[in-house]
Amino acid sequence: MINFEMLWKYQQTDAEVDSLKKELENTPERLKLKKLRRLLTEQTDRIKGFETGLRDKEAEIEAKSRELEELLRSYDLEQEELNIMLEDEEATSAELTESRKAMEQLMDRINSLKKALTSAVEWTKKTEADVKDTYARGAKLKRDYEAAKTVVDTEKMEHKPVIEKKEKELELIARHLTPEIVKRYQTLKKKFPNPVASLSDNRCTGCLMNVSMTTSRRFASGTELTECENCGRMIAPRGE
Ligand SMILES: [Zn+2]
Repeated sequence: MINFEMLWKYQQTDAEVDSLKKELENTPERLKLKKLRRLLTEQTDRIKGFETGLRDKEAEIEAKSRELEELLRSYDLEQEELNIMLEDEEATSAELTESRKAMEQLMDRINSLKKALTSAVEWTKKTEADVKDTYARGAKLKRDYEAAKTVVDTEKMEHKPVIEKKEKELELIARHLTPEIVKRYQTLKKKFPNPVASLSDNRCTGCLMNVSMTTSRRFASGTELTECENCGRMIAPRGE
């Protein structure tokens, strides 16, 4: 005959093991550690983002600088040409005007490029400062993380014997049950936190559904382990 009392005790002790583990998972220091870990990941991502931005900006500055050099060369050439024309009596005023206009246009492009370059350089400086700042804050986070980790490790060590003691207790209770029942319990546990239920007014206390007369009768006999045909939980009489 199945030791129902032990089956219930098994479920209760198992729940106690779970709750001890959960308690350990949710200590303030543990939650703090999780938060710090998330913040550290965020920092790393931010720095990566900055670094990508800086690389792109560097390429942009290089390209713009080359373009500026070319424009300045063109401007010098245009200036030389204009100087020659000014010496040349055969140069028409229309030619002079066109040359001056070309120079003006070049100067406009040069100025707007210079402006873009200045702002790109400023952005780079600012971003580099942000990176430095992020690194500094990251270093502080890392220190806080290490400190929290030490506390969490201590908590774990302190909790370990308590949890192990409960687990041992569970093991001892399991000896009063058959391996098949323990196995069934563990399989059901994947679905429900409470694999063992009882009947109350022909209803399964697990899923609250009505069970068949057969199940009800078998349950009433008080000697057999039945199962709820709705949820599959083990139905065991509960000794008072
Ligand atoms: Zn049920």
